Formats: sequence, C-alpha cells, structure tokens
Amino acid sequence: MLADRRSDRQDALRRRLTELGLDALLVSHPPNVRYLTGFSGSSGLLLVTHDRTLLITDMRYADQAPVETAGAAEVLVELSNIWERLRRVLESRGRTRLGFERERITVRDAERLARFEAADPVGTADLVDALRLVKDEGEVEAIRRAADLAQAALASLLPTIRAGQTEREIAARLEHALRDRGSEWHPFQTIVASGPRSALPHARASERSVARGELLLIDFGAQLDGYCSDITRTMIVGEADGRQREIYEVVRVAQRTAREGIWGGMSGREADALARDVIEAAGFGESFGHSLGHGVGLEVHEGPRLAKLADEALPVGAVVTVEPGIYLQGWGGVRLEDDVHLTGDGPRCLTDGRTELLTLH
Ligand code: ZN
Ligand code: ZN
Repeated sequence: MLADRRSDRQDALRRRLTELGLDALLVSHPPNVRYLTGFSGSSGLLLVTHDRTLLITDMRYADQAPVETAGAAEVLVELSNIWERLRRVLESRGRTRLGFERERITVRDAERLARFEAADPVGTADLVDALRLVKDEGEVEAIRRAADLAQAALASLLPTIRAGQTEREIAARLEHALRDRGSEWHPFQTIVASGPRSALPHARASERSVARGELLLIDFGAQLDGYCSDITRTMIVGEADGRQREIYEVVRVAQRTAREGIWGGMSGREADALARDVIEAAGFGESFGHSLGHGVGLEVHEGPRLAKLADEALPVGAVVTVEPGIYLQGWGGVRLEDDVHLTGDGPRCLTDGRTELLTLH
C-alpha cells in the first residue's frame, strides 16, 4: 500500500500561500482538485485556507465526493449554485485575500469573484501545477501501469493490422483494446496516421486506408487512477524501403540518445538538444518542427517543457515524454515516444523503450 500524500500536498501548498501572503487559494482546475483531495468529478470548487480544505460540489457528486476525498477535504454539497455557496462560505470567514488560478478560470467566473464582497481576489499561476511536477512513488507507479496497459493493447492490435484497413478502423480497435484492459478513458484522441498523413504530427485518424509499403504512426495512451501514459510507435505495413529505414534509424538513434541522456537538473533546452543535435547532424533539422516532449501525469500534457526555449531545469522526480520526429510533407513522418522518470540516479523508462522498426505482414 502506497502512502496517502494528500495532506502533504496540501501542507506544501499552504507553505506557498504563506510565502505569497494569501489567506486561501481557490482551486478550480479539476486535475488540481484531484491531486489535492482525490475527488475526480468535473464540478467542484476547492477552497484551501490555512486551517481548512473545503470542497464545494453539487448533488451529482453527493455520494462520490465523500468516498473519494476520504477525509482529505470537508465536502459541502450544494443544491443550487456552487459559486453562490462559495460566496457564503467566504462571507462567514471574513475578509480573505483569495488566490485563484488565473489560467484556469473563465472571464465570467473571474467577474463573479470580483463581485464577492468578502474577498480580495489575486490571480496566481501554477501553484498546484508546480507541486505536481515532481511525482511521488504512487504516481510513478500509476503511470507505469498505464504504460503497461497501453503496450498490452498495442501488442494485441499489431497482428491484426492489414493493408486496406482504414486509420479510423485501426484506432477503433486500439481504443476498444485499451478500454477492455481497464483504461479509464483515452487521455487524448488516438492518432493513427498512414502514408503521407504520418507527416502531420497531430493527425486525427481518418477514412484513409493504409497500403502496403507505407508508414503507420500510432500515438495513443491509457489512463489508470487518473494517470496517463503517452506512447508513439511508427511501423511499416509490409517491407520498408531504403529511405524509410534511413529516416527511421535517425529518429530511433535521436530518441534513444535523449531517453538515455536526459537527467533531472538539466534544462528543458538541453534535453531537447540531445535529440535535435542527432537529427540536425543527419540533415533533417528543419523537419523536426515540434519540441522534444512534455510532462505527463494527471494530464497528458503538463509541465515541465522539453523545448528549444525552455530554460528552466527539469526537476528530479518529473515524468516526461521523449518524442522526437522527422516529418517530410508528401512523404510521411516518423515519431517515437516513450515516458521517462527522471530519478536521482538518472533516467528510468516507464514504457518498454522498444523502438526497433516493426514491419507488419
Ligand atoms: Zn503522444
Ligand atoms: Zn506526447
């Protein structure tokens, strides 16, 4: 049984509130609410003061919220409007210097806050998100299990792929296999891109059929206990030609170099360069048009950033994707993506890191 870290997380947040001179933080971003309390519903306002943690939610979650929070928050079930309830709670405690998540709130809700007589709203950024950068043992384990699940689903799919199947058909069967194995949901729209469409880094699965001799790029993930995995594999249906092998090999070496060379403490820019240098040296620098990767956790895209313009150090304990690619318009693209935990002893791949070229028959 892994330790319950929710009160530690709330304590860490309170220390930040003290540093910032805030009496309370209103947490409205659902993954942040979940991180601090365990509540996974879509409607909830979490008020963290220096001595209380109050979750205001609505009737739909009257049963779920107390079970999931299990004492990590006092639950208030509101019958009409949760914002109105928040206003009353604030009025009952007197004037409050109230932080809110400025990047996570609508203009309408910011206007509501501004009208609260008992609150002085202060926009904050990334207070909870910053805590989430460093994963604890339980979180890493959840991501690893989500990776195992995703890989098992892919392994069951591969022998069934045939020339003539559409991208959407392949995506549907992969998504079925993911759900069948226990994935809570798809963390993002599954990408299945064949032939020249594989050159679109964020292609959606279309009605195009894959033909023999074509690249097939699949980018997908699973979600377990809220935590996501994010994997990309590129394969060939039939036999690969010389150019496909050459470009695949450049991406494979670039990805492995970054996966093995990335360390907590280096900047996002330095991590990005591990792969980018290999791709540039092979003459494809212009064709790697996105950044190396991103953090993964309760959200599939979260901090830290691994990118050319990311100067911040990658924290020890973060889990990040490593996903370089080469995309040639009209020809196709190759991307390989694994999820890596930056431990104090170096990188530990949570996915299988099996990137040898797969040819499907
Ligand atoms: Zn991905
Ligand atoms: Zn990714």
